[in-house]
Amino acid sequence: MSPERDRAAGRGVGETGTVSAIAPALGADLPVRVAPEAAEVRVRGLVHRYPGRDGAAPLQVLDGLDLDVPAGGYVALTGPSGSGKSTLLSVLGGLEVPQGGSVVVHGTELGGAHARDLATYRRQTVGFVFQHFGLLDTLTAQENVELATMLAGVPRRRRQARAAELLADVGLAPRAGHTPLELSGGERQRVAVARALANDPALLLADEPTGNLDGASGERVVELLEGLNRDRGLTLIVVTHDPALAARAHRRLDLVAGRVVEARRAEDTRG
Ligand code: ADP
Repeated sequence: MSPERDRAAGRGVGETGTVSAIAPALGADLPVRVAPEAAEVRVRGLVHRYPGRDGAAPLQVLDGLDLDVPAGGYVALTGPSGSGKSTLLSVLGGLEVPQGGSVVVHGTELGGAHARDLATYRRQTVGFVFQHFGLLDTLTAQENVELATMLAGVPRRRRQARAAELLADVGLAPRAGHTPLELSGGERQRVAVARALANDPALLLADEPTGNLDGASGERVVELLEGLNRDRGLTLIVVTHDPALAARAHRRLDLVAGRVVEARRAEDTRG
């Protein structure tokens, strides 16, 4: 927990805090649960390049990118394949270290951050939902969600209760004991959303969350993510190829030549 986040949430530095709205049934014996503040994202001049293979020139993917997302914002990020959308999400998620510029998420500067601080940031501030779910096939849905809280050091009984509650929230209580291979694509993605919420993230990042789902399952996942933004105030950034999904966001941005530009609305491009 960052001191900034503790202060913003009105608690002492280092006190635990989780979302009461997510876990109302966890019981009075648990620590006071405090809804986390949503994350504000401020990126300035972000540069990211991948090294070339066999003497080839490096590939400049992000090239002086600026981005502002207010706390509680909902942004859709579109752009052609290979334009750097996943790279940007990886940087915002603390999976890739920014190579230049400033990336401040929820008061944490990710540029130049120590690996240990980035790991803490990933665990405490961000929830990630991937196109391919990223679940462990040998674990049950319950265990997949519990694993995220286990890494954060939550005691066993509490993490069991928390995982069960989160799975109930995403409508999967009856499927908690099944492994991903016994679940539909939509159900797997809802387990992934529950897992992403396990440590009360302030920022939810979703990379093509409906890319592997049929229309109805995709809609359910999108409604789930949008509900977390609308009702719980989580900042939500969704990468998508789907114009209909992008149009639902508060703001739609395109990645062009390594920078973000305001996407033109459908009515602006007609005629
Ligand atoms: P998008 O999500 O918009 O499809 P990506 O961020 O995945 O774009 O990739 C941007 C570019 O960077 C692509 O040309 C891709 O091949 C390249 N790329 C992505 N990850 C790596 C990597 N780990 N090493 C080298 N090149 C990469």
